[in-house]
Amino acid sequence: MNVFSHPDFDGHERVLFGHDPKSGLKAIIAIHNSNLGPALGGCRMWPYASEAEALKDVLRLSRGMTYKSALANLPLGGGKAVIIGDPRQSKTPDLLHAMGRFIESASGNYITAEDSGTSVSDLKLIAEETSYVAGIMEKPCTDGHLRSGDPSPSTAYGVYRGLMSAVEYRLGRTDLAGLKVAIQGVGNVGFRLAKHLHQAGAKLWVTDIYSDMVQRCVNELGATAVASDEIYGLDVDVFSPCAMGGILNDETISQLKAKVIAGAANNQLESPHHGAQLRDKGILYAPDYAINSGGIIDVGYERMGNFDPKAVNEHIESIHSTLMEIFSRADHEQQPTHAIADQVARERFAHPDENLQNS
Ligand code: NAD
Repeated sequence: MNVFSHPDFDGHERVLFGHDPKSGLKAIIAIHNSNLGPALGGCRMWPYASEAEALKDVLRLSRGMTYKSALANLPLGGGKAVIIGDPRQSKTPDLLHAMGRFIESASGNYITAEDSGTSVSDLKLIAEETSYVAGIMEKPCTDGHLRSGDPSPSTAYGVYRGLMSAVEYRLGRTDLAGLKVAIQGVGNVGFRLAKHLHQAGAKLWVTDIYSDMVQRCVNELGATAVASDEIYGLDVDVFSPCAMGGILNDETISQLKAKVIAGAANNQLESPHHGAQLRDKGILYAPDYAINSGGIIDVGYERMGNFDPKAVNEHIESIHSTLMEIFSRADHEQQPTHAIADQVARERFAHPDENLQNS
């Protein structure tokens, strides 16, 4: 398995491999770029079929975090961690403590948070071994209530606002009543997004590999359940990927009827040429790391010690103007939207001093 010559290596600053035989921990921390600040990104736990698959995932996710924080104008770098294992079977306090010690060994160059397969209570166990953890502080809401440290509500709110922006740009409508949306994955983010959409009058089709997650949407939101492989070809306005990456590929793009893609999942394009394919098909793709930055904004403010719910919400709402700028530049320059997002983000993290002077 190659690391430095891996196709997704992309100049990573550090890639750390952690093993704890006693707890069974096998994990990777990837730090892509810290020009703008310490690398902050979630810790994913997933039953990867191979170590090569885990490495590919962490490299792609870590790089995405650099771009995400830069595009969201946060003083943070990009990094990510993965634990190889099934979160429903292999997650133990010993394993999470070992993960905490592994993160501590990176001396603050990497700060962790929640991701697929890890929860606030898991992060609190990790925090017993390291202080480089975000997403655990109880946070005030704009209405004065306290909520848990989980950034998923902020991610879901940002995706909801970004989905509205894409619908406005591509379909020319600002209300969502009767809008048909297919959601792939109704976990922490997907379910909350589904709730926002339901409240706005949208009609929902949902799928998940766990039937209890789907049933919750059917019972509470009147959603229609569909099989995993049916979700792509539905006659809907919006396809919202909220599960895993790589799902916009040759096989799925040919099935899509939706005119807008707007979802939370990281690394939705299997490869960059799929962004061009979407553009050729007249499908507006809201670049994943532009639309799903609500969570990093949330934990970023927590970590910077200035969590003001109003300021956080306003920052999340800036996803609208960021996306509108990307969409219109993409049309103007006849480029895929993901290419424009990459360009804007790269300008920010590659030349941090110029951007600080200009901000
Ligand atoms: P989650 O694990 O709570 O939810 C993901 C859901 O997708 C699960 O219910 C899972 O069963 C389902 N799923 C997995 N593979 C599937 C498949 N092939 N078909 C259908 N369903 C499938 O994770 P989450 O926190 O909701 O995150 C969802 C996505 O959004 C991930 O890609 C994550 O990296 C990304 N994301 C999350 C956040 C956040 O704040 N949680 C922030 C940014 C990006």
